[in-house]
Amino acid sequence: MKKLALHWQILLGMVLGVVFALVMTKFSWGAEAIGDWIKPFGTIFISALKLIAIPLILAALIKGISDLKDISKLSSMGLRTIFLYVLTTVIAVTIGLGVVTAVNPGGSISEDTRNELVEAYGGEAESKRLAAEDQKNTGPLQALIDLVPSNIFEAASSNRNMLQVIFFAVFFGIGLILIPEEKSKSVKDFVDGFNEVILKMVDLIMLAAPYGVFALLAALVVEAPSADLFAALGWYAFCVVLGLLIMIGIYLLIVKLYAKKSPSFFLKGIGPAQLLAFSTSSSAATLPVTMERVTEHLGVEEEVSSFVLPIGATINMDGTSLYQAVAAVFIAQAFGMELTLGTQLGIIATATLASIGSAAVPGAGMVMLVGVLGYAGIPEAGLALIFAVDRPLDMCRTVANVTGDATVSMIVAKSQGKLGDPKVKEWNDDYHPQA
Ligand code: ASP
Repeated sequence: MKKLALHWQILLGMVLGVVFALVMTKFSWGAEAIGDWIKPFGTIFISALKLIAIPLILAALIKGISDLKDISKLSSMGLRTIFLYVLTTVIAVTIGLGVVTAVNPGGSISEDTRNELVEAYGGEAESKRLAAEDQKNTGPLQALIDLVPSNIFEAASSNRNMLQVIFFAVFFGIGLILIPEEKSKSVKDFVDGFNEVILKMVDLIMLAAPYGVFALLAALVVEAPSADLFAALGWYAFCVVLGLLIMIGIYLLIVKLYAKKSPSFFLKGIGPAQLLAFSTSSSAATLPVTMERVTEHLGVEEEVSSFVLPIGATINMDGTSLYQAVAAVFIAQAFGMELTLGTQLGIIATATLASIGSAAVPGAGMVMLVGVLGYAGIPEAGLALIFAVDRPLDMCRTVANVTGDATVSMIVAKSQGKLGDPKVKEWNDDYHPQA
């Protein structure tokens, strides 16, 4: 019997997880049982993915850069990558602003609902605000200072320091290019082999993906807040989702026009990574799979994907920036504030920066939203308004984040003549870890 393609298996796992949780909530002990016996498997699955994120970045980036052989190639690819990342982010924020202004979701929030939401989520929102406060008490060049680690082992000890690990890997890769080949060969061979091992580990973890997402979604359903509050925020959530869909449509168009690949080819190739992004709400946890899919299934040569994707997972968050713009304007609308054109332009700039600064982990976008609100003079208490629906929207924006990275990697690959045929054909899309 032909095995179901991976993306279908994952989708099935998600649907069954939701259905299972809905059935279980009918029993008084159901939610607790899921928390005790099902959720841990989801947590283990995410941990396994995160476990390989740092080794993967190190191995893939060092390999990718040393494969480039000369520094001028690196700088041309680097500049192109950063330019495209910033450009797509600005487009995303602009779409977010356009949609939220056109739909005006905050206009329909009654004062009662507003108070109810602030009451219900004020405490949790406050903790996000405090987390942001910690980040804010720093000078303008803090991001630059943070980029350079003073100890690589310390940096590699937390997934939050991915940018520092990237810095080290790029630096190491450059060093490797600059030394004579007879000296670099053994290091390169080691890194190549190490990289292969990590990719194989990704394959193995992905075998558990359908079960992992089952557990993740089941746990999410039993922990979700009441449906009433969800409904009150329906239009706001609609704006975010609509904006994200438009953005994904733009990616498909770019891939079609520039890389000459059809939407179905692209979506089938990147699908499992998107589903995983949705289930985990973390671009960092999804990174190993994004890399595997883009390289094996979309035909981007490893030289490009191993450079573009780790950087993208950390700094390119189109979905997050779009959401931040929508959320900021929604809160302003709910509090009856008018935003001038100047303020809106400022939101484009701050949301772009805030999304670059957001860590690739669940909920990070909301912490950085505080900066955008602060800039535009929008009350931070408004965070409580959007808290109830943040998790589902986080899941959706992470999908856009990952899709954006994959798109840019295809464009960069195409422009460098490094977009070939996929190694794995979709009609034989099963994972064969022993193959
Ligand atoms: N969860 C998002 C990501 O990892 C970041 C965010 O918007 O919260 O890509």
